Amino acid sequence: MSKVEITEAECPSCSPDEPTTHVIIKEGGLVKCEECGYVHAVPVQKKKTIKLRVIVSRQQESSVQEIEMDEDEVIHVGDEFVVEKDDEVSGVKVQSIELKTKGRPEEAVAKDIDAIWARTIDEVIVKIAVQKGAITESINHKVSGDYEFTVGDTIKLQGYEAVITSIKEREGRHNKRAGQVSKAKDIKRIYSRSLTSAFRYGGRTGGFKKSKVTEKSGGSRPRTTGSGLRRKSGGRS
Ligand SMILES: [Zn+2]
Repeated sequence: MSKVEITEAECPSCSPDEPTTHVIIKEGGLVKCEECGYVHAVPVQKKKTIKLRVIVSRQQESSVQEIEMDEDEVIHVGDEFVVEKDDEVSGVKVQSIELKTKGRPEEAVAKDIDAIWARTIDEVIVKIAVQKGAITESINHKVSGDYEFTVGDTIKLQGYEAVITSIKEREGRHNKRAGQVSKAKDIKRIYSRSLTSAFRYGGRTGGFKKSKVTEKSGGSRPRTTGSGLRRKSGGRS
């Protein structure tokens, strides 16, 4: 039993506001931040983790995977989490929950669950270069892999608009003609020009940040439940 126990906790050193993954060094409260290595004490109660069967469907196929979670964790239909199989990591969304008693509730405590039925959510990060005068910023935009971007279309990103000037695909094609369409999963980078005044959103650079993952726009992006996607298969407390 050389299993490493982990927990989610705020890190006073690198992440005081948002929990990061910590390795439990000593039962009773000494933890080490996996992001920055800072060792500190937090109140840790040990929880029993159990393995649940997750039947993941991807289009026509389905496969059985396992996820480890705290026995008292509550799972809801619509929750999203990450499952790992071999080296592949995929996001899944809970579609139905089957109890040991054969019921199919909207939510259940992990220890009562016999199996979770889920389908994959195929989201990808599309890199978008936004040219704004002399400045070009890169933005990471999260959308469904099948979402289509069209050269010449206007996209809305974090409160400003940009027009797509060209789309470079992974296999090398560079679409520059208006009306040419690429699916998000095939895109290496989108080039765009901002239509928004650089001074309109406060600050010289227009108030958008580098490499920020946008949470909105893009249309077909599935909803997330916030905490769901942060869940690790190692359980947490
Ligand atoms: Zn840290």
